Amino acid sequence: MNSALKIYNSLSKEKEVFQPILPGRVGMYVCGPTVYSNVHLGNCRTFVSFDIIYRYLQFLGYKVRYVRNVTDVGHLEGDVDTGGEDKLGKRARLEQLEPMEIAHKYTVGFHDMMRIFNVLPPSLEPRATGHIPEQIEMVQQILENGYAYEANGSVYFDTLKFAEKSGIYGALSGRKIEDLISESRDNLKKQDEKRNSADFAIWIKADPEHLMRWNSPWSVGFPGWHLECSAMSTKYLGKTFDIHGGGNDLKFPHHENEVAQNYGACGCTPAKTWMHGNMLLLNGKKMSKSDGNSIMPEELFTGNSPHITKGYSPMAVRFFMLQTHYRSTLDLTDDALQAAEKGYRRLMEAHATLQVLPFSGGATGAQDQEVKEWISSVHEEMDDDFNTPKALARLFEIVSRVNSWKGGQVSMEGLSEATFNELKTTFHTFLFDIFGLQDEVAAGSDDSFKTIDGLMHLIIDMRADVRARKDWSAADKIRDTLKSVGIVLKDGKEGTEWGKE
Ligand code: AMP
Ligand code: ZN
Repeated sequence: MNSALKIYNSLSKEKEVFQPILPGRVGMYVCGPTVYSNVHLGNCRTFVSFDIIYRYLQFLGYKVRYVRNVTDVGHLEGDVDTGGEDKLGKRARLEQLEPMEIAHKYTVGFHDMMRIFNVLPPSLEPRATGHIPEQIEMVQQILENGYAYEANGSVYFDTLKFAEKSGIYGALSGRKIEDLISESRDNLKKQDEKRNSADFAIWIKADPEHLMRWNSPWSVGFPGWHLECSAMSTKYLGKTFDIHGGGNDLKFPHHENEVAQNYGACGCTPAKTWMHGNMLLLNGKKMSKSDGNSIMPEELFTGNSPHITKGYSPMAVRFFMLQTHYRSTLDLTDDALQAAEKGYRRLMEAHATLQVLPFSGGATGAQDQEVKEWISSVHEEMDDDFNTPKALARLFEIVSRVNSWKGGQVSMEGLSEATFNELKTTFHTFLFDIFGLQDEVAAGSDDSFKTIDGLMHLIIDMRADVRARKDWSAADKIRDTLKSVGIVLKDGKEGTEWGKE
């Protein structure tokens, strides 16, 4: 197993050599979507980033249990812990549907989009509403351990006590407890039930109009947003697991509060390594639906958006995402997409060339060493905190060489067949298995093949007709003309088939 893999840990703010808790296995939890509206491209970026991380860990030989949840209750408007309307509940009211219909509709849409971007399904996809008993149990544990208190049917986490006892409050986000205490949130409902404004709700008593509600020892209510991730990661990955991920907008309050809850319930912090992906920007500004600075994946594919001049294919967009490291912001612009589209095509063309390029090297020489270094450098870049842009840059050095081999500007002298084959395999594995790209150009030629095959069967039928009329010269003419363009007809028991010479 690879021990050279280094991952940047948001907790220590350092790149650390990755050492899984159990040898050969990785437990990874990533905060999934809140299914109250169509997934936007920013969400897609985060899930593509973790898809590549998942794929690379598997490539290294780890058995990965990847848990990515679906949030279908408790996430309130404004990302507050009390006082806001539930995002799903609000949508259900507006669309006049059951909250579960909303969850289902947007979960299906989310899965469709993940498939379009060729994002692998996680090992498990638990939903918050399917884990209400586990969440209630966790609230009970936190209460028993003295890290929470009940007030008027709601239960609040005692943040001050946690900060004092653990000394780790703010480790992820850098927030200071004193600042939180002085932050006024008086405009929100139920704030007066809290002992301290830094406390947050882990169980909320439902108002009469609240749609989603469950029985609990404290009230008919619903769990706080952060609780689902603590309860479901513990259930499926254990109290302590390897990697916890999400977009960096979740560091506070979501992840900070998750750490607090786990500590309150089990006396330990959940993940050894915290990974945060950076935000997707549109023309330099954070993508946001509310101020119109956003683009939906469908608009990107069709080109139906004032922000772009044409449509881009899902794989060109995936390639565009790969060109930036997951911890850097990614600015979506029309120019950048056009460049990505060209780069993606060049990469796919080089792959196709490499697969059919005849080997013409021989004795091992200088070029062998050079190619071997390229191969290991692609791995090294990925081992360095999944550096996809640098790994891609290395692959493009290979692309240039492949094109020079093809054009005859550079010979294969000094390259051994074994290294040449290794290069082919590495190129293929990185493009398709690790980067998760698909060859849309080849898929396109699949379509062309279908068209040609249809036309060929039309010609074969016409030839059968002329032969039935014993018009031998017409039949021969068809056969000879096809032969002149390299197509041969084979008459067999099942009928006539066609093929290339
Ligand atoms: P949500 O559906 O809002 O709960 O978010 C789902 C995931 O998408 C979370 O991991 C967020 O951090 C992430 N996310 C939200 N907005 C963006 C953005 N503009 N760029 C990248 N990731 C985002
Ligand atoms: Zn979460």
